[in-house]
This record gives sequence, C-alpha cells and structure tokens, in this order.
Amino acid sequence: MNFTETKRAVLHALGIEEECSGVYAGEWRAAPDGPVIETRSPINDKRLAQVQSARSEEYEWVLSRSRAALAEWSMLPAPERAGAVTCVANELERRKRELGLLISLETGKPRAEGQGEVQEMIDLGRYAAGLGRGRQGGVFPSERRLHRMFEQWQPLGAVAVITSFNFPAAVWSWNAFIAAVMGDTVIWKPSSRTPLTAVACIKIVAEVMESRGLPPVFSLLCGSGSGIGDRMANDRRLPLVSFTGSVRSGRGVAAAVARRLGRSLLELGGNNAAVVTERADLALALKGVAFGALATAGQRCTSTRRLIVQEGIYQRFLASLTDLYKTISIGNPLEDKTLVGPLIDAEALKAYFAGIREARSQGGRVVYGAGKFEPPGLEEGFYAVPTLVEAEPSMPVVSEETFAPILYVMRYQTLDEACAIHNAVPQGLSSSIFTTDLREAEYFLSHRGSDCGLVNVNTSTAGAEIGGAFGGEKDTGGGRESGSDAWRAYARRQTVTINYGNEMPLAQGIRFGA
Ligand code: NAD
Repeated sequence: MNFTETKRAVLHALGIEEECSGVYAGEWRAAPDGPVIETRSPINDKRLAQVQSARSEEYEWVLSRSRAALAEWSMLPAPERAGAVTCVANELERRKRELGLLISLETGKPRAEGQGEVQEMIDLGRYAAGLGRGRQGGVFPSERRLHRMFEQWQPLGAVAVITSFNFPAAVWSWNAFIAAVMGDTVIWKPSSRTPLTAVACIKIVAEVMESRGLPPVFSLLCGSGSGIGDRMANDRRLPLVSFTGSVRSGRGVAAAVARRLGRSLLELGGNNAAVVTERADLALALKGVAFGALATAGQRCTSTRRLIVQEGIYQRFLASLTDLYKTISIGNPLEDKTLVGPLIDAEALKAYFAGIREARSQGGRVVYGAGKFEPPGLEEGFYAVPTLVEAEPSMPVVSEETFAPILYVMRYQTLDEACAIHNAVPQGLSSSIFTTDLREAEYFLSHRGSDCGLVNVNTSTAGAEIGGAFGGEKDTGGGRESGSDAWRAYARRQTVTINYGNEMPLAQGIRFGA
C-alpha cells in the first residue's frame, strides 16, 4: 500500500474522518467556525487531517462536563473504576495495529516504535487497574487511648494533562489511566503537532466508557499551547496540571500553576549521557548507545545526547560507532527495515542544523552526518542524517537539548571526571554506565555518581519500563509518572483520626479546661 492508501485504511479502521472534531466530553463537539489544526505527516509533509480545536465555549463546556462526571466516577469503588480501565486496555490491544500505524503516520516513528507505544499504553492500563485493589495506605499508632489513625487517598478532581508530540499517546495514558483509577476525571490537551492520535485514542476509550454507561472520565481539548494550554495552567478549577514538554514551556506552566497554588507534575527535557568505561563490554555498549541515540530519530526525552568515553578505548569505540552509523537505514518509517524515520517537522530540521552549526562554531568536530537525507519519493519529508560530533564538555551547546539525532562524544580519564562531566548539565532525566566492573557501576549509582532520576547499568538511557517511577531532576522538573508510587500525584492524602472512646484526650498531653 502506498502512503495515501495506508492513511485512508488507518483512518477508516479507527472511524476518523479527514475533518474531525478535537473536542470530546461524552460527545464530540465541533465549532464549525472555530480554529482548525491541520496535521501533516513528517514522512512526506502530506496532509493527514484537519482537527477542529476548542474555543472558549468548548473549553468551558468540557470543564463543566468533566467536573460533573467527577461526582459519579469518584464515588464508584476503586475496583470498579479499575474494571473500566482494564476494558480500555483490552480494547487498545484489539486496535493496537491501526493505532500504532497512525502514530507512525503522524510522528514519523518506525512501525515497531508506533506499535511499542500502544503496547506501553496497554501495559500501563493493566498496571493502573491493579492499583484499584493494590494500592496501600498507612496505619499509624496513636498516642491517645482508644484512638485510631490512618491515611486515605481521595481523588483530586478534574485534572489537566498536557502532552508533547514525541509520545503522542503513551504519555497521556501514564497519567490518565492512573488518575482515573484514583477517581479523577482527566482533560487532555495534546500537542498541536499530533492531535489526530489523540482523537483516535479518545475514540477508542470513549466507545468503551459509553458502552458501559459511564460518565465522560476521559475528555479531549485540542488547541494551542499558548491558548488552551495556558488557560489550563491558570485555571483554579484544575487542581493538578501534569505537563510533559520542553523546559522552556514547562517553566511557564510551573510558574502559572504555582501562582494559584495548584499542583504541577513536570516531565521536561532531558540531556542524557552514557559513560563507557575501559572495562565495558564494548559490543553491548555499542548497541545500547546506538539505540539510545537513534531511536525515534533522537526525539525521545531519554535519547542519549552525550557519550562520555574513557581515554584508552575512545578512538576504537568512536570508530566502531561511526561504522555502525554508516549502516543505519534511514527512511520511510512504514517500511520494516527502517530504524530512523523523519524529524517531526521543518522547524525540527532547522533546529538540527542550528545545533550542528553552533557545535562547529564552538570548536566541535563533525565525525559523521550533518546533512538532510532524501529518501527517494519522500523528498518533502524531514529526514536528518544521524550525526556524531567530537566535543568538549565546556562547549555551551553540550548543555542544551537539541531534539534531533546529534550525539556529542567526549573523553575522560577517571570515573570522577566522567561523573563531573555527566552531571554538569542543567537537565537530569536519564543516564547510563557501561562497565563490567562492579565497583565502577556502584560508584555511578552512588550519591557521587549520576544525578538523574533514571540510572542504568549496561543498558540504554532510553526505553524505560512502566513498573518504575519515570521522571527526572533539576531542569527536568522533578515529576514522577507511571510505576512505583507515582499514583500519589493524582490523589489527595487525608490523615484520619478516630476517637472511639468516651474521653477527649489531647495530643502532646495537653489539658484544656477542667
Ligand atoms: P513543547 O514544550 O513544545 O510542547 C509540549 C506541550 O505543551 C504541547 O501540548 C504544547 O501545546 C504545550 N504548550 C506549549 N506552550 C504552552 C504554554 N505556554 N502553556 C501550556 N501549554 C503549552 O514540547 P514538544 O516539542 O511537544 O516535546 C518535546 C519536549 O518534551 C522535549 O523537551 C522532551 O524532552 C520533552 N519530553 C519530556 C518527557 C519526560 O517525561 N520528561 C517526555 C516526552 C517529552
């Protein structure tokens, strides 16, 4: 099938028209004269669809419906809410192929990565459903006689989830499924670069919820960041704004939410490094670094952007990596052999070239790459040749996150020096060390080692599993999503004290009155 046939087949299978509404709260609502987002495929810059986005009226409509739904949803027993989320996960599994393909069409990620993203949603759905019965609260000994003290977790309310383009479905599910099991309702503002995937996700989820007679727990508000997104950040009716995106946008959102004393959950940019020591299994390290730097064309928050290699193996490792880069198949992400697809749009390609120019002007040496790639028949797409640049840690460009496949390669002598280079950037998301030496690995895991939220030994900075808490420190924003106890972010903690006696003993032995 060619591009147009694939697009038509996928949209048909998902029940999406080429002109569709991007506003849902129990029913789809379109403002015929409202703003429209045209979504184009980075594969060849052809139009995919037009999504009608929200005006002020639709914003208010979605908010009031989502808040109204809360009354019913939050009072259902958590296992019942979890049951609905399980059905959502099952339906996603049934529709995995077409939804994954749509993700590839809209973001340009290779097929396997598009399918993998849907699998992540399915896994997360089932994980979240488990929390419906499995989450724990504390019971504490009371110092007062005939008293009982424990904590319980209440839903927060209608919560906002603002997402980035690069994981246009999975990031929403990390938040939405767990928040829903906690009893919240969820209003999603997706990236304006990937609204169609959001429409498809909500269609799938809405069918399940509507068929079970459930209220609109999962709503959608397509629109711009500066319009709808900013409004959400400033809206006191949204107790939590979960924001995934760049450090620049996240700073503004965090400040707006803090001004109204709301809660924000920030998952911002990364600038991740892999340290390869002289004691590494070099074949393994090569695979881990290549996946980290090249997957999703370097457009993951966890992409490996800096490679810190020990002096004694530096030349050898760089030569092997360069050879590997020469064999990587770049091109149409719908073809199985493709490992690197296009960047998201023309702006991203511009940023790639600007990053390389900056690196050169600061003394960096391009070892490989630095060019536009033009697969036959797809000359309009935004393909960048993955690039290796020899750099110095002191170059300012090394501290920036350029969302493209550029890997800065640096050398070090001692592990202390490697850790200092590693931690010298403002971001703190993911990190890796490749070594077979237990002492080196443990040092990297110690307080003097990596300062990131995610730390890996002998595996890539990219490709986290859902079971652990995901997120990073410093400019990455400090948020945690997905596994472990990340569910706490979507709930309100209450400490409960019950007096089941006839007396009124006071804490700290205080006597009040007679
Ligand atoms: P972006 O900051 O341009 O946009 C992200 C979202 O924020 C979009 O929905 C956008 O419309 C919205 N937005 C923009 N300005 C806003 C404002 N003023 N108020 C409210 N919302 C606003 O980011 P992007 O280019 O879509 O995504 C790439 C970035 O996201 C990278 O920096 C990447 O590292 C980061 N990211 C982080 C994680 C993580 O978990 N840490 C995951 C994925 C992506």
